[in-house]
Amino acid sequence: MMRPHSFICDLAAKVVRFEGRKFLSLKPGVDEDLLRPRKGAPEAALYIHIPFCKRLCPYCSFNRYLFEEERARRYFRQLRQELDFYLERGFTFRSFYFGGGTPTVLMDELVAFLEYLHRRLPVKEISLETNPSDVTPETVRILKDLGVKRLSMGVQSFDDGMLKAMGRFSHTGAEAVEKVKIAQGQFETFNIDLLYNFPTQTLELFQRDIEMVKELEIDQVTFYPLMPAPRKRHAVERRFSKIDTRRERRFYRLVLEEIYHDGYHPSTVWCFSRGERMIDEYIIDYEDYIAIGSGSVGLYQGLFYANHFDLDNYGKKVESGQLPIAMSRMLPRRDHLRYHLLTQLFGMKLLEEAHRRRFGRGTKEDLGLELRILRLLRAVEPFEGGWRVTEQGMYLVSGMMREFFTALNRLREYCMVGGI
Ligand code: SF4
Repeated sequence: MMRPHSFICDLAAKVVRFEGRKFLSLKPGVDEDLLRPRKGAPEAALYIHIPFCKRLCPYCSFNRYLFEEERARRYFRQLRQELDFYLERGFTFRSFYFGGGTPTVLMDELVAFLEYLHRRLPVKEISLETNPSDVTPETVRILKDLGVKRLSMGVQSFDDGMLKAMGRFSHTGAEAVEKVKIAQGQFETFNIDLLYNFPTQTLELFQRDIEMVKELEIDQVTFYPLMPAPRKRHAVERRFSKIDTRRERRFYRLVLEEIYHDGYHPSTVWCFSRGERMIDEYIIDYEDYIAIGSGSVGLYQGLFYANHFDLDNYGKKVESGQLPIAMSRMLPRRDHLRYHLLTQLFGMKLLEEAHRRRFGRGTKEDLGLELRILRLLRAVEPFEGGWRVTEQGMYLVSGMMREFFTALNRLREYCMVGGI
């Protein structure tokens, strides 16, 4: 099988790194009129960010703060207010994605928020991230009763040595196994996240994590590479050794051999499910997503925006009746097309009809050069619905997506350090 050479993969990743930074060069403020429902636009998903964790993992570049109960309660109130701003503007949502931080960090507030969603909106599906330490039979029952269809648990590794090296002290490997057994089979989709290419991680350790996934017959598993923002990267590298992205390919090959070739279905190049199509990433399934909560990023009809990261700035804006958006950028058509291409390739397919509906022209007219190059590299191939990523192309797309998320993490770090 011919695979794109490492050099080509590195080059493609570099192009995305460059394009990603350009894409994310947001300007302060927002034209709020652009955030009104457009006639004929498909319904957007709603992303909700809960930025609190009971412990902060040193490698993590998300917007997160150490949990303080009073602060978190105030935050949930502000979150409801922010949601109301969008509802007053005429938005309606049916699909919800809770990320963090740890959305389950304060269950009574989360429950009240979910009940509020049910009262105000025609809820169809809810996807929610959690930590193994929060998973109990009781929380599982509550979340199920409140319509959570997909629960995603951040395991990262089943190996105690790896968890310790990562600074992930919220659970041990044995506890993660126990929590998987509690949640598995209780939701339409139960996912776990596993991290790879941590400096001290060997292929053997990673292989054992994969074996555990199979042994436990987990519905869905997302393997994602370490992709910290610059400061976090330096901290990890000072403590261990250089994060070598070239090692990633060997880890990824193991995923293909052990998971993909074993019949797991890829819904993204990182996410593999045992059953048929399961719920996965909102950035692929939804052309538009409104984002609420501090440090969340949204995309609506070409407007890309980021909320205030700093909790005080976020809270002040919301309490004074304003959308808490810190910065934004109306994407030029070219950037929007490339973002669409990247996220769809991440989701394994670029669908002709969806592309035409969104951009008014065919994929070849809009992305002819990009598709020709990808085809030449045998990274994509045509099929009757559009273009699909080949097995050979999966690693190339993985590297491109890693660079895009790294650029996003860089933006997050910039905002957090700058108190934006
Ligand atoms: S990795 Fe997850 S649990 Fe750890 S600090 Fe980041 S959001 Fe919190």
